[in-house]
Amino acid sequence: MVFEYAPAPESASIVDIRPSYGLFVGGEFVDGHGEPFKTVNPADETALAEIARADAADVDRAVRAARTAFEKVWGPMPGAERAKYLYRIARLIQERARELAVLESIDNGKPIRESRDVDVPLVAAHFFYHAGWADKLEHAGFGPDPRPLGVAGQVIPWNFPLLMLAWKIAPALACGNTVVLKPAETTPLTALLFADICRQADLPPGVVNIVTGAGETGRALVEHDGVDKVAFTGSTAVGRGIARSVAGTRKRLTLELGGKAANIVYADAALDQAVEGIVNGIFFNQGHVCCAGSRLLVQEPVAEELVERLKTRMGTLRVGDPLDKNTDIGAINSAAQLARIGELARAGEDEGAERWSPPCELPGRGFWFAPTLFTGVAQSHRIAQEEIFGPVLSVLTFRTPEEAVAKANNTPYGLSAGIWTEKGSQILWTAQRLRAGVVWANTFNKFDPASPFGGYKESGFGREGGRHGLEGYLDA
Ligand code: NAD
Repeated sequence: MVFEYAPAPESASIVDIRPSYGLFVGGEFVDGHGEPFKTVNPADETALAEIARADAADVDRAVRAARTAFEKVWGPMPGAERAKYLYRIARLIQERARELAVLESIDNGKPIRESRDVDVPLVAAHFFYHAGWADKLEHAGFGPDPRPLGVAGQVIPWNFPLLMLAWKIAPALACGNTVVLKPAETTPLTALLFADICRQADLPPGVVNIVTGAGETGRALVEHDGVDKVAFTGSTAVGRGIARSVAGTRKRLTLELGGKAANIVYADAALDQAVEGIVNGIFFNQGHVCCAGSRLLVQEPVAEELVERLKTRMGTLRVGDPLDKNTDIGAINSAAQLARIGELARAGEDEGAERWSPPCELPGRGFWFAPTLFTGVAQSHRIAQEEIFGPVLSVLTFRTPEEAVAKANNTPYGLSAGIWTEKGSQILWTAQRLRAGVVWANTFNKFDPASPFGGYKESGFGREGGRHGLEGYLDA
């Protein structure tokens, strides 16, 4: 007997989306001088609000506001005082958690279950954690008196809008820097709500500035002479351009870029547990995850059985309304991203891999993609090499641990990896040989503010989170 789910929608009435938003500069919302743009609800394609577009002059104003705040207020302020502000922001995030989660799901398309239980709690945790560091920087291992860098220009993507903001702003502020942050053009709303939280926390004007816009605004920010540090999270292609533009300047740079993680399942793994980890690894957040376990490497003796169990589990995933508390997979963030996922999935079929999705009815309006599995994937296939950034899993097999490691490392990226086995020695042997910044064992997608995150090779350089993450914001 199959029990049907009744709809369990979270009410959207808690959020108050204004018809239009300005830029947050010097503690005030001000008009932008570029052509405003609309942000869209990806679940039904309705326009949510009109957003200001910052041009080069607006970015300049924001950088100047950040510079003044750095020199006059935030830089000279004792760490223990800065900590109080960070702590207050963390508490306000907790108080307004439901509002933030609903707004994130509406603007991004991610299931409310994830924005409510993962994104927003991690955002608060990140501010709490860094509040703790603000008055202890001399004990962080970067010398007796590490100094802030100055003004940080920060550019973030759309997949975890608020969480990426927290990863950028919390360490920068804890270390005594001021920031100008540009959220992604498809997901600006929670950053603008965060601006309101900064005001509520009485954060001194100019310490946090938010400039909205697309790539041109981001470029104006990272190329601005008044920026001392550039922190970018996004695609490898854009990251490469930024590295070129920053090269030869005095600016410091950290890059958090794409990934194509291998999730390695040895024959002795607890298969049901592995299936849960694989599903979490690739279908969490619609697969819009830089560290997604998008390549499943299974040891041959269990490959058939694992794929069968995986298909059964995928058949239970519920795709639909992001605000429904039963939803597992929400909307794809934009039409452009949906087109890219579709193009790569077709390439998988054209190159000879076998495509499978469970029966799954997709809503008529909005941007949707059914959870998808490819078997018979060769290492040369595009779906084994390129970041799809969607709910698409490529399955490859291996015979020996050496082969697993060779295949896992056969990628230009090096952000994350997963290992599933009952033997601790096998975990250590494998982890030591993987070129990936984060390696999870018998779990996947676990995040903690105390744990550094970042990549090797084309996944970027520098770490975010933990003691290591402070280094990118200190003149040590
Ligand atoms: P993207 O590179 O297209 O855009 C990211 C941000 O950069 C956006 O705010 C965009 O407006 C801005 N931008 C675009 N062109 C720019 C330019 N020339 N100069 C400055 N800024 C510019 O990436 P995306 O499609 O928004 O995000 C997806 C990518 O982000 C994926 O590749 C994913 O792996 C990566 N990502 C990495 C991490 C990580 O921690 N390593 C985390 C999340 C996402």
